[in-house]
Amino acid sequence: MKVLLLSDIHSNLAALETVVQDAEANFEIAETWVLGDLVGYGPRPAETLSLLSSIGAVAVAGNHDLAVAGVISAEAFNPVAAAAVSWTQSVLGNEYLDQLRALPTRLERHGITLVHGSPRDPVWEYVMNEGVAAQALDDVDTTGLAVGHTHVPVIFRQLSGEFERIQSASSQPRSVAGSKFLVNPGSVGQPRDHDPRAGYAVLDLDAETVTHRRVEYDHELTASKIREAGLPAFLADRLRVGV
Ligand code: ZN
Repeated sequence: MKVLLLSDIHSNLAALETVVQDAEANFEIAETWVLGDLVGYGPRPAETLSLLSSIGAVAVAGNHDLAVAGVISAEAFNPVAAAAVSWTQSVLGNEYLDQLRALPTRLERHGITLVHGSPRDPVWEYVMNEGVAAQALDDVDTTGLAVGHTHVPVIFRQLSGEFERIQSASSQPRSVAGSKFLVNPGSVGQPRDHDPRAGYAVLDLDAETVTHRRVEYDHELTASKIREAGLPAFLADRLRVGV
């Protein structure tokens, strides 16, 4: 069974549409799991939520989703992120806000734990390095842990006492067989690893592999919608360089 792993879509509809088409064309996807930050930063929040519902995606909440839903305060956000939170609140109807409010911060599916940040702090903690990744794996009793939040794709694997970071490469399946593992699919809508292409991953639960993929999408379209919406220009500019 193959699972499409998406994270940090951030209302970037053009990126999401491209990713879903690419995944459907290349894999037999049985389920789609979203690791938070469905909205925030980007210009098409309602359309993004609607597309995710139409493909039956299961999602956990990210910090941006919770701020837009009014569950957490946007005070901890930088001014650009906070401006995007207010703008998103102003354009989303109650039905969508209720949908965001109902998202859990942690889920377990088919032996995999899903959180946005980390198991001990699903809202805010970044799993950026081996120390935090090892702690995060210790904090779950499932075989796999899928996280988002950093906007950077990565796989960590723990096998017979050895803990290692596995270099992901676009379209190359990486084995996690027999190990406890952590995967971050990277970001669909706002990559931050200096590669502007949209990122996602496919988890094959039978073959026990993770395949990261990067796809070109029309980032100029998203950038122009960001400017039209009156969102901070930095949010448009960063999409061109992937930071
Ligand atoms: Zn994010």
